[in-house]
Amino acid sequence: MYDNISNGEWRVVTVMFAGENRKTAVWKVNPVSPDPTVIARAGQILQEGGLIAFPTETVYGLGANSFDANAVSSIYTAKGRPSRNPLIVHFVGEEMRKRLSPVWPPLAEKLAKAFWPGPLTLVLPKSPDVPDVVTGNGPTVAIREPVHPVARALILAATCPIAAPSANRSNELSPTLAGHVLRGLDGRIDVLLDGGPCAAGIESTVLDLSGERPRILRPGPLSREMLETIIGPVEISGGHLGEAHLPSPGMLLKHYSPRTPTVMVRSPEELGFDEGHLAVVTFGPIGNVPATVVVLPGDPAGYAAEIYARLHELDDGRFDRIVIVEPPDTPAWAAVRDRLKRATHRAD
Ligand code: AMP
Ligand code: MG
Repeated sequence: MYDNISNGEWRVVTVMFAGENRKTAVWKVNPVSPDPTVIARAGQILQEGGLIAFPTETVYGLGANSFDANAVSSIYTAKGRPSRNPLIVHFVGEEMRKRLSPVWPPLAEKLAKAFWPGPLTLVLPKSPDVPDVVTGNGPTVAIREPVHPVARALILAATCPIAAPSANRSNELSPTLAGHVLRGLDGRIDVLLDGGPCAAGIESTVLDLSGERPRILRPGPLSREMLETIIGPVEISGGHLGEAHLPSPGMLLKHYSPRTPTVMVRSPEELGFDEGHLAVVTFGPIGNVPATVVVLPGDPAGYAAEIYARLHELDDGRFDRIVIVEPPDTPAWAAVRDRLKRATHRAD
């Protein structure tokens, strides 16, 4: 159906999903100045109720028209996501923002001036126009203005805000490259816009402004300290970070996980190498060890930009275990440590 754009760079895959033939078309786009013809077609598909995966500055998103309850429901189906785990709505400009929430507190204005467009999501009371399926039936909506040119162009072409969680199967690793999206969602979505790697590499910081005091629900690229320089004290939610509307808190503690068993160790000395074919992920030099060693950058932003891509690669590498050396317990590493804890969480 959507295979009549001839830029020569996309391919079409046909698989069976929900009893029908569906195709995922992959359209390559320039991440800085995407082809308006391709973006216009993608925007039209969103208008028609379709699903489009697209790059943002955090990770790839899986988008639907946020005002189309059926289209948003199909995001949950494609991802296998619990229906009470709410989505982030991506918008461009004040006019769209006002359609999502009837309120705009002074703290939100300050934060928007400092960090939007960018990797900050604000939770505010929702407008009645936002379907309940977007917010997991909750009274609040999570909104964000992305800076990535492809995300912005797509939203403008669709002429509506786009509800978009990360473009991965529920509980699996978030995608930072187009290939990661196909790994989980090939055949389950209409189009994938391939705009290359995502710069931040981890999901946005989620800040709840709907309560008495601002509270971080999910740490992310913008740290607590960075937010506090703009608005003063910010609380951090413990335990079930950001899963406010889930029936059972902590249900999604295991999240963002490789399929390969993955564990965390305090230091390289704790590694045991008698347990099969191991991959070790670290951030500084370690001695000669009988394992495949991946050394990531020693700064949190550099580490975050690469971690999901390396874990995707290792997950395809037939290892018995992936062992991650724990980064320092300092505020600068909070977001990375949050993701690693979830990746290595064991339900038992
Ligand atoms: P994802 O984009 O896949 O990382 O998922 C979106 C995340 O945004 C959810 O897991 C929640 O952490 C957060 N979120 C979205 N909407 C809300 C909301 N109304 N209240 C609290 N957290 C939210
Ligand atoms: Mg996600």
